[in-house]
Amino acid sequence: MLLEVNNLVKEFEKGKPVVDKVSFTLKEDEIFALLGPSGCGKTTTLRLIAGFETPGEGTVKLRGRLLSDTQIRVAPQKRGIGFVFQDYALFPHMTALDNVAFGLNELPKHKRKVFAEEVLCRTGMGDFKGRNPSELSGGQQQRVALARAIAPKPQLVLLDEPFSNLDAMLRDSTRKEVRSILKKAGMSAILVTHDQEEALSFADRIAVMNDGKIEQIGTPEEVYYKPKTKFVAQFLGRTNLFEVNAGGGNEIETSIGPIKLDCNACGRVVCSIRPEHLTIEKPNGASPDNIGLIIGREFKGHDITYHVLYKGERYIVHTDNRILFNPDDKVVLRALEPAVVLQDPLN
Ligand code: ATP
Repeated sequence: MLLEVNNLVKEFEKGKPVVDKVSFTLKEDEIFALLGPSGCGKTTTLRLIAGFETPGEGTVKLRGRLLSDTQIRVAPQKRGIGFVFQDYALFPHMTALDNVAFGLNELPKHKRKVFAEEVLCRTGMGDFKGRNPSELSGGQQQRVALARAIAPKPQLVLLDEPFSNLDAMLRDSTRKEVRSILKKAGMSAILVTHDQEEALSFADRIAVMNDGKIEQIGTPEEVYYKPKTKFVAQFLGRTNLFEVNAGGGNEIETSIGPIKLDCNACGRVVCSIRPEHLTIEKPNGASPDNIGLIIGREFKGHDITYHVLYKGERYIVHTDNRILFNPDDKVVLRALEPAVVLQDPLN
């Protein structure tokens, strides 16, 4: 195991933990994301791993070496961890090359610049080695910051919202490049982000955080298609939630008709079904009790979102753009996949 984070707790104000018993592990070569809304404790968790904060409880171990507990705190620069900050934090008066060479004090002086240039080339910045940060675009600075973080060959790279200053196009391409650079270098990384699409496309596994706690850890597919809680279901994208009485089997009655569940369930339960797991059809021959009404439509080019009202309940459906209906059309909905039974306690 590369990293073991065990029961980390951090309070800035007594009795109000901003990181609350956070535990997870990271394998070699794995890219992990901490995903959650602003203020949920992601950056603080990253800072505890980097050694910029001391935990009130819990431990951090890297390849079995204890880095942090309530007594021990190995200095950040001695942890073998690279860090890319949100604002890149490059030295403004130094060239890209000097920024990268700066942290290479393990190498003899004459080799530092040669190796720094090699790493800059790997991140596509070889031609810009002589420029200062103010002469580089956001995406270019980001790649220099990444080169600086990976040049000392750390065991782990921590990335704190590194793409948030880039525009949408650049964000997408830089994200892909950074992922491929990390994978080629065989380096593990933890990305902090509040952007669900970013976490889903960048990470091998995701921890979804809410209010200082991890609610679920899983692959992008697991957290998206098999959310464990209402929070995870809703934070990862749009979803249809409904509270129903389950009879012990794996099927429930809903206003759109019977829907299969992903497991057997009994009693009052909350279920989630993603909008793309519903489809919309003409009501040919359906009984009037099972017919819904389109009350809204969002055309997005490659797909369409419909809002459908069924006996006072609203459903969201994503379809491809060949399925065309209009507001006020009468329709029926059909589930293409089972609904997921959530584990939230019922109020
Ligand atoms: P964002 O996405 O906005 O960066 P985050 O999930 O990374 O949010 P943190 O930066 O970890 O959240 O902050 C968690 C909570 O801890 C917030 O309420 C924040 O105000 C508080 N906090 C963070 N650092 C300190 C500090 N040094 N002193 C006091 N409170 C702090």
